[in-house]
Amino acid sequence: MLELEPILPSVETWLSQPRKMLIGGEWVDAASGKTFPAYNPATGEALAQVAEADAEDINRAVRAARAAFADGSPWRRMTPAQRGKLLWRVADLMDANREELAQLETLNNGRSIRVSRSDVPFSAEWFRYYAGWPTKLQGDTIPVSIPNRLNYTLREPVGVVGLIIPWNFPLMMAVWKLAPALAAGCTVILKPAEQTPLSALRLGEMFLEAGFPPGVVNVVPGYGETAGAALTSHPDVDKVAFTGSTEVGRKIVQAAAGNLKRVSLELGGKSPDVVFADANLDAAARGATFAIFSNMGQSCIAGSRLFVESSVREEFVERVAERTRGLRVGPGLSTKAHLGPLISQEQLARVQSYISSGVEEGARIHIGGERIAELGNGYFLQPTIFTDVHDDMRIVQEEIFGPVVAVTTFESIEDLAPRANGTQYGLAAGIWTRDIGKAHRLAAALKAGTVWINCYDQFDAAAPFGGYKQSGWGREMGRAALDLYTETKSVWVALD
Ligand code: ADP
Repeated sequence: MLELEPILPSVETWLSQPRKMLIGGEWVDAASGKTFPAYNPATGEALAQVAEADAEDINRAVRAARAAFADGSPWRRMTPAQRGKLLWRVADLMDANREELAQLETLNNGRSIRVSRSDVPFSAEWFRYYAGWPTKLQGDTIPVSIPNRLNYTLREPVGVVGLIIPWNFPLMMAVWKLAPALAAGCTVILKPAEQTPLSALRLGEMFLEAGFPPGVVNVVPGYGETAGAALTSHPDVDKVAFTGSTEVGRKIVQAAAGNLKRVSLELGGKSPDVVFADANLDAAARGATFAIFSNMGQSCIAGSRLFVESSVREEFVERVAERTRGLRVGPGLSTKAHLGPLISQEQLARVQSYISSGVEEGARIHIGGERIAELGNGYFLQPTIFTDVHDDMRIVQEEIFGPVVAVTTFESIEDLAPRANGTQYGLAAGIWTRDIGKAHRLAAALKAGTVWINCYDQFDAAAPFGGYKQSGWGREMGRAALDLYTETKSVWVALD
């Protein structure tokens, strides 16, 4: 049995109390009084009871966010420099409470504590990056061609924004949306995923501690079909920013149609990771293994389709398999475990059914494919490599969101590019080669929002991220995210 890190007494205490929702600067129960359990996927046991928001709580949160956004409110009166300072303060509070946040994240999501410990300061940097933006978010003076007319633009916050996020990177996903939305001057209602509400609730406490006025940040845990749907269809919400599955993304778009609220979507992926024979095969094998198995494959950018140039297929598959055998699966609280459990029984069953479909359709399991029963009731699964796959198999076309990679071969860029682009998705791609001409030619040919050349899974608050095709609408991060949370007003002045 792997030894587990001790849980901090402050975390034990925090978990032992029923966790309320944050509305208008107060921690409150659900209007219905209902609660739901947050689970530990490493054991299948409940960690804490959480207030369960439904439509009435969403109404309350929207009213609070609307009041906080009203003309003359403390938030609207705040100068850009003051807003920047508040954002910076939240980053400092995240760093100061790093271990607490990391433990909550690992307990509730399952990922390795080592990963959570680095995720916290990494996420805090988003607030620092966006803390610099309120003072730089400026309009333009436009050189119009009508005599005696001045035209300039203002960048104004879009208003009350619903942020709906998934369970795979609970803290990071919250921060990626909160930081630009608040930098732009919006007020927000954050709905964490029902599986992973804890780190978002702890973060909510930090917003109050930092001094954000009541109602600027509201945190309402609850289920997608109730709380999520109520937020998306609410007539007084100006925008919804969503990260999750493509299937739910479609529902969000439909629900948003009522008041034509702005929608940005970061959805699924089935990213190709392409290895040419001339690549540094050692680096490529390390990168490709990480690309698919990091976070147990529960990642929208997972490099789940591995294209290997046929002349190095055998050697390369063996290199990846060798590295994969070295990955230790176990509870996230063990520093010895590289990979944790899947998030839930439901997700485990879903991934297992994909593995069965691969076998039924004639693919071959090179390694893995089985649940790891000796780790107890947690949702542990062996990292799985499929070979002998065809492009039309379900394991090649559909997002599995688990530790399953489909390996296929190719002969040339010309043969490869249409196949690499041959899914409904277009989120990310990896290219491994020493030939820079080839790398850039393929990067141009790929229909993907992000292309990594001789690396994978690189993120920075300043670098845009988002999807082509059914992987989403809009770009997060950097300057691009500010477009998602602002309206541009064009002002005309007669000078004569
Ligand atoms: P996953 O498939 O990764 O679980 P989902 O797309 O189902 O992701 O969920 C992502 C987020 O969307 C979660 O916060 C979930 O509660 C929310 N959600 C699910 N269904 C809906 C819906 N119909 N309307 C709004 N939000 C939803």
